[in-house]
Amino acid sequence: MATSDSLIQVRNLKKHYHRGAIKALDGVTADINKGDVMVVIGPSGSGKSTFLRSLNLLEEPTDGEIIFNGVDITKKKYVDASGKKVKLDIDSLRQKMGMVFQHFNLFPHMTILDNMTLAPMKVKGVSKEEAEKKALELLDRVGLADRANAYPIQLSGGQKQRVSLAGVMVDQVKILLFDEPLANLDPATGKQTIELIDEIQEKTDTTVVIIEHRHEDVLWRNVDRIILMKDGGILADLHPDELLSTGLLGENGIR
Ligand code: ADP
Repeated sequence: MATSDSLIQVRNLKKHYHRGAIKALDGVTADINKGDVMVVIGPSGSGKSTFLRSLNLLEEPTDGEIIFNGVDITKKKYVDASGKKVKLDIDSLRQKMGMVFQHFNLFPHMTILDNMTLAPMKVKGVSKEEAEKKALELLDRVGLADRANAYPIQLSGGQKQRVSLAGVMVDQVKILLFDEPLANLDPATGKQTIELIDEIQEKTDTTVVIIEHRHEDVLWRNVDRIILMKDGGILADLHPDELLSTGLLGENGIR
């Protein structure tokens, strides 16, 4: 359920390349609220990926602000509540913003369980027992508990996608970012993936931002807003029904 509690405020965000010759983002302003499900659409090259990647600083913005939990994360240092200047901790930021890519990034020589416990154990120093318990719980949530000891090659594309989803949920993510999660999936698996994202979103009330070309698959019942991008800017930010009642989709060559 969307609320009016703001999670991220994006203000006049710009990302320019080649000294401004390419304006991938050119003044994007948007509010992302807690529990929102947002779908970002727009023609190829309109800035969707850059927008998503900027949110967790995979792209360093050229200008503008991204306020997350009250802190402008585009600045390397900020002043905390006690007035002290502190360095922005990008790793801990990324643990709150989980990005699910279209490529699955699983180590082929390791089992699914070992893939999932690797980062918690090696990076965060969680014990093997605790990491495995959590991983199994998450695999169960995505319907793959019985595949924990399988190797990536033994899984279908849809199953690997579900492992990546379970993988980002190892952290207490506040927001899940999806860049074309259905790109490599057949229609039936795509539908299952969307249903799973929907289910997780409902159970955890996580905010979801998703870029997907397969509009007919993603526009499921509880999408709160569609952001329509064009030429590095936001052309419309509306509820799906409102957007459909404008002529904007057709005018921009979107089915
Ligand atoms: P979309 O996801 O909507 O297809 P992108 O965000 O990938 O759009 O790209 C927006 C624009 O920025 C495109 O014109 C793209 O060519 C350009 N762009 C993206 N990344 C780079 C880069 N690293 N260097 C130069 N131009 C880039």
